[in-house]
Amino acid sequence: MIWDYDEPVAIRFGAGRIAELAEAIRSLGGTTCLLVTSRHFVDDGTAQRLIDQSDGVITEVFSDFSPNPDVTQVDACARLIQAKGIDSVVAMGGGSAMDLAKAAAAIGASGGTITAYHGTGVPVPPKHLPLIAAPTTAGTGSEVTCVSVLTNRAEGRKAPINSDVFYPAIAIVDPELTYSMPPHVTASCGMDVLSQAIEGYWSKGHQPICDALAVHAARLVFQWLPLAYAEPLNAQARAKMCEASVIAGLAFTLPKTTSSHACSFPLTNLYGIAHGEACGVTLDYFARINADAADGRVRDLAQSLGFGSVSAMADAIHELKVRIGLRCGLADLNLDDDDIADLVRISRHPNLYNNPVEITDAMLEEMYRDLALRD
Ligand code: NAD
Repeated sequence: MIWDYDEPVAIRFGAGRIAELAEAIRSLGGTTCLLVTSRHFVDDGTAQRLIDQSDGVITEVFSDFSPNPDVTQVDACARLIQAKGIDSVVAMGGGSAMDLAKAAAAIGASGGTITAYHGTGVPVPPKHLPLIAAPTTAGTGSEVTCVSVLTNRAEGRKAPINSDVFYPAIAIVDPELTYSMPPHVTASCGMDVLSQAIEGYWSKGHQPICDALAVHAARLVFQWLPLAYAEPLNAQARAKMCEASVIAGLAFTLPKTTSSHACSFPLTNLYGIAHGEACGVTLDYFARINADAADGRVRDLAQSLGFGSVSAMADAIHELKVRIGLRCGLADLNLDDDDIADLVRISRHPNLYNNPVEITDAMLEEMYRDLALRD
């Protein structure tokens, strides 16, 4: 077996470490920094506190973006970067803030529009501004990945762009930033962590370092997500979920995600289901489909996580979803034949081809018909 492992992001982990932000910006040569953060952190005063602590280094804030950020919002942020002479970018938020900032830090430096690179296969130019990522959800792991997932609502397309220029220079993973996540965000993001870990493990692109990381991250999710959901201010549960999130990010970046992520894209685009929850809808289903694949690797995974069989692991995923209030089916969507045909068509995303078992349209149709009957 031949494999490579690269991880260029400097990770600073620990409660309270967002206080190091100004020093971190300066360490990258930043003097005129843009803070990209969601409205929540503007409204609760966190953004202003960081600006006040930055001794004038943070000069602008951009918060005009939505969950599942749109390509037009990336371009608007890039234009602000150019107009204000910004030399560095901080993304403090969930995957949406970080992914938007990654793309804007590249387009702001190189010019043009992100649409030239979204779903086109054209490589993103190498110029980009230094980026610091501070996650406020325990979910995407975007702070350590070279991925920016963007949506083109005008064309009805959500797709990742992979580029080495998207790696943040520094990730500040401060669990205290996640305490304010509402329970449903905690649950959905936690399911994203589990999906990334499990899919990274069973991906055709698997390799030993990422396997070890995936097992560690998945174990933490089974152990700590219910507590983080039930007790938002439980410092240990929040820290363990942040650990799981950053490690799952490292676990899937190189192997890439597979079938559940492929199916999540239409569920989010067409029905507005939050990203992690959308991944979780099909995760136990694909665990059963993949059970005997890849020379018993999925059985090994189940065993490493303390389950007697892949079926027991799939049951545990289902029980976890029930316990943290995530959907297990799609019955409430009242899907008709045309809707199911659309779901099958749009699920045929490149990630599907990383799945260890070949997934046919007939298998997708059977799965969606089954899920359409379940609550
Ligand atoms: P998100 O960033 O969309 O945030 C969800 C909601 O929670 C938003 O309204 C946000 O403002 C709010 N929020 C975030 N942190 C909060 C906090 N601490 N307190 C209160 N509210 C908070 O959610 P996410 O799951 O982190 O990111 C999802 C996006 O990331 C999707 O677009 C997904 O496709 C993408 N993604 C990217 C990668 C990657 O490697 N780049 C990996 C997985 C997913």
